[in-house]
Order: sequence, then structure tokens, then C-alpha cells
Amino acid sequence: MTPIRQVVIAGGGAAGWMAAAVLSRAFGGRLSVRLVESEDIGTVGVGEATIPQIRLLTGMLGLDEDEFLRRTHGTLKLGIEFAGWGSPASRYLHAFGTVGRPLGLLPFHHYWLRARQAQPALDLWRYSLNARAAALGRAGRQEQVPRGLAQGLVHAFHFDASLVAGVLSEYAQQRGVTRVEGQIREVCLSESGDLASLELADGRSIAGDFFLDCTGFRALLIGQALGVGYEDWTQWLPCDRAIAVPCSSPASPLPYTRAMARPAGWQWRIPLQHRLGNGHVFCSQFMGEDEATALLLANLDGEPLAAPRVLGFTTGRRREFWKRNCLALGLASGFMEPLESTSIHLVQSGLSRWLALFPGAGAGLPEAAEYNRQTAIEFERIRDFLILHYHANGRTEPFWQAMASLAIPESLRDRLALFRASGRLFREGEELFTEMGWLQVMVGQGVIPAAWHPLADQLDAGQLAEFMTNVETLVERAAADLPSHESYLRERCAA
Ligand SMILES: Cc1cc2nc3c(=O)[nH]c(=O)nc-3n(C[C@H](O)[C@H](O)[C@H](O)COP(=O)(O)OP(=O)(O)OC[C@H]3O[C@@H](n4cnc5c(N)ncnc54)[C@H](O)[C@@H]3O)c2cc1C
Repeated sequence: MTPIRQVVIAGGGAAGWMAAAVLSRAFGGRLSVRLVESEDIGTVGVGEATIPQIRLLTGMLGLDEDEFLRRTHGTLKLGIEFAGWGSPASRYLHAFGTVGRPLGLLPFHHYWLRARQAQPALDLWRYSLNARAAALGRAGRQEQVPRGLAQGLVHAFHFDASLVAGVLSEYAQQRGVTRVEGQIREVCLSESGDLASLELADGRSIAGDFFLDCTGFRALLIGQALGVGYEDWTQWLPCDRAIAVPCSSPASPLPYTRAMARPAGWQWRIPLQHRLGNGHVFCSQFMGEDEATALLLANLDGEPLAAPRVLGFTTGRRREFWKRNCLALGLASGFMEPLESTSIHLVQSGLSRWLALFPGAGAGLPEAAEYNRQTAIEFERIRDFLILHYHANGRTEPFWQAMASLAIPESLRDRLALFRASGRLFREGEELFTEMGWLQVMVGQGVIPAAWHPLADQLDAGQLAEFMTNVETLVERAAADLPSHESYLRERCAA
């Protein structure tokens, strides 16, 4: 492979414009970047909730966070509340950031497990700053870690996806990216089998050295032109439809996403400054589209602002993400339901991995193989995390019973067995979700370890009680110091 001088991005959804913005920032004018998009085809137009890593992107691009939220009608997100998953009445927050504070060699939850022997109702989330702030409706940017805590408030964003694409598009074009409006009619290969050019419906030809396939579910380059297959994960995650509808927002925005279990899937609720984003993800084997739409419309907190839109999907991933001179990003690379808001992050981490492996002279095959290896692991660990939410459910509807009895991947089975036995959790390599994420979902859905690490017995009962009270007090004080989410948005980033 020769050094890359001309990159062509096919597709101008969130994936395409994120790629364009990042390339324009990383290379300045030293790389020619053209992006082809079609207004007639449009974008998927959903994708409103993120995870804290999104701030690495805004930071890398040098965007002012308040200004970004103002322009995208965004709000702060401290976690995701799961309602009705562990049992119909249960509720827990998968809060970002840490829970408690490590002591000695041990993570906090071993002390919590020991303390709850005497107090079975002792709530894990009393020790999470993010969870306490969310419960109080408080949120803000915390530049310094409050004294005595291991971490301060950790936040992500909710935003209007179409406005984000606009911000990134403007950013990239100001830094030299060329936008080409047009429909790709054909993808041409060279004699060697590499991608050579995109042929547009109006006769123009866009040639390049390297192509980013950001054409969404169509996967025009990686799937259709290069014939890379798709690994179907429906056997583990059988939901295959989503219905999306925005509605008016009757109250001030909550600083977290809601994911509410429904008889054959779940409903999301994403608070923006000016409206709520809602959607119902469901399994078509267990519920028809009409019933799913009616259920969604009956459970909105405001008036619908548009007609509901149905989106079909197959959960899974491309067998290769990088093939020859083509890299697939976004929906073209695979799809997992937005239960933990991971898709936009996967675009971001794909880009950063590609930049780390960016081909220079002589580079090519080993870099692609390494990219594919790392990305496959990242996708698979997220897949396991999503399966956990369905597997550990305490509901009685046929869909949920079927989900609880589905065979799970060995990697998840082993992780669950270790945690159930003695509360031990380990993050593998560059896996996205931390031990804290796994801990909260397991405990929140009723997976409680039978024992704790023996080192937690080093403290006597008085020391243990003092430590627990101490941490709780520190969390409570830090939460009380935060502004209300509403006033933070009003004063710093009102749209
Ligand atoms: C129901 C649902 C909910 C989601 N919620 C979240 C969420 O909360 N958080 C999250 O992180 N992610 C979420 N996602 C995923 C997120 O929406 C996507 O990862 C993100 O928007 C990136 O999409 P994309 O750019 O890959 O594809 P798209 O937005 O579909 O863009 C594809 C682009 O390719 C162009 N194109 C296609 N064919 C042609 C052609 N022939 N010629 C020219 N141009 C063409 C289109 O015009 C468009 O510009 C959700 C996805 C779905 C389906």
C-alpha cells in the first residue's frame, strides 16, 4: 500500500462527519478529504445519547463544550436509568464514574458486600456521586475531583443527532474537507481488487487512495462492493425493530437517559433542551409493529412532534471492518441496539484506532489485521454487556422468559460465574465498560455475589462502619455542591 493522500468518505451521517472532522483536525490540509452524501437518501437521524468518551472527541476537536451543547440543544447525561428490568418494579441507574472509593487492594464493592450482611437493604448507589446527583436533579462540569473521592462527576451528552452532524460538517468544511452532494450509483474496483472510485448518478467520478464506508446500513463499499459478510448476533440479541418518535417535554430535562422494559423489548427516553427523544426497541417475533407503536405512543411524557418512524435492524458486526483500502465506520460496520448508547462511541474509537494504525509507506495488511482484531474484541465485549441486561431479568412475559433462558456466550457465562461466587470483576484489555458498569448492571438486576474478597475482613466492624459512612458523606456533600441541571443549562448553554 502506498501512502494515503486522498481519502474519500462515503456517507454524511454522524459517522461520516465525525470522520471528516477528526481527519481535518489531525492532518490539517496535508490530506485531501472529500465526503459524498445524498440529501435525497438522508441519514438514519437517531442517535441522541452518548457515553463520557464523547468528551474526548469534543476535546480533540477543540470545541467549547457549552457552545456545543447550545448548538445541539444538548443536555448533560450522568447515566442510564433501567426501569423494570430486574423485576417489573425495580429501578437502578447505570451511573457513569466510580462507586465508592477503593481501600487498600480492594475495590469498594467488596466492603459494601460485607456491610450489607448486617444491612441487606444497603443501597450501592448511595456511594455513587453520579447517582446521587442524578437523584437530586443536579449536574454540571466538575473540573476538580472533590476532596476524598476517587473521581468527580462524570458526564456525557444527550444531543440532537442532526444538529451534531451540522456542527461537525461546518467544522470539517472550514478546515478543508470538500462536501460532494450526489448519489453513489456504482463503486468501481481497480484490477488489484482495491476500491478505485465512486461513480455518481450525475456522471462524476470520485477517486481516492483510501475509502471510509459511512453509508449506514446499506454498507455500499464494504458489504456490496467488497463482499465482506455480516456476523449475525440475533441468537443472543433478537430485538430487530425500533420505532422512534420525538415528543414535547413537559418538565425540565433530567440529567440521565431512561430505558424502560416493555413486554417485548424496551423504551428509551432521552431529554434534550427542547424536546424528548423516544423510541421502542422490540422483537418482532413477540410483538407486531402496530402494537409496538401504540404502546410507545401511550407511554410518552408529552405530545408527539412527528409521525413515528420504524427502523429495522439485524444485530451483529462486519466480519472484517477494514478490508483492502476500505474502513467501515458507523452502521456500515455493525449494529447493536442503543441500550448502552455505544454506536457513536464505536465510530469514535474506530477512528482513533485507525489513526493509530494509519497506513504509511509499506503499511497495509498487518495494520488491517490488528484493527480487525481489536475492533472485534470491542464489539464482542459490548455485545456481552447488552446480553447481560436481558439475561438477568426478573420478568414473566414470554419474551423475557425466552431471553432469560437463551444460551449466553462463554465469555459472559464465565464472568457471571466469577462475580456470583465472590464478587470479582476484571476488565479485559481495552474493553469499553469498566468494572463499575458491570457491577451496577449485575447488582441492579439482582445478581448478588455469595461472598466478598477475604481482604475486606481486615477491617473490624467499627472501622467498616466508619469507612462506609465517610464515603457516603463525601458523596452527599459533593452532590450538594453541584448546580441544578436546569440552572446549569440555562446559564451556560441555553439553546
Ligand atoms: C433506533 C436507533 C437508535 C439509536 N440510538 C443511538 C444512541 O442513542 N446513541 C448512539 O450512540 N447511537 C445510536 N444509534 C446509532 C447511531 O444513530 C449511528 O451510529 C450514527 O447515527 C451513525 O450513523 P451512520 O452515519 O453510520 O449512518 P447514517 O446516518 O444512515 O448515514 C448514512 C449516510 O450515507 C449516505 N448514503 C447512503 N447511501 C448513499 C448513496 N447511494 N449515495 C450517497 N450517499 C449515500 C446517506 O445519505 C447518509 O448521509 C441508534 C441507531 C438506531 C437505528
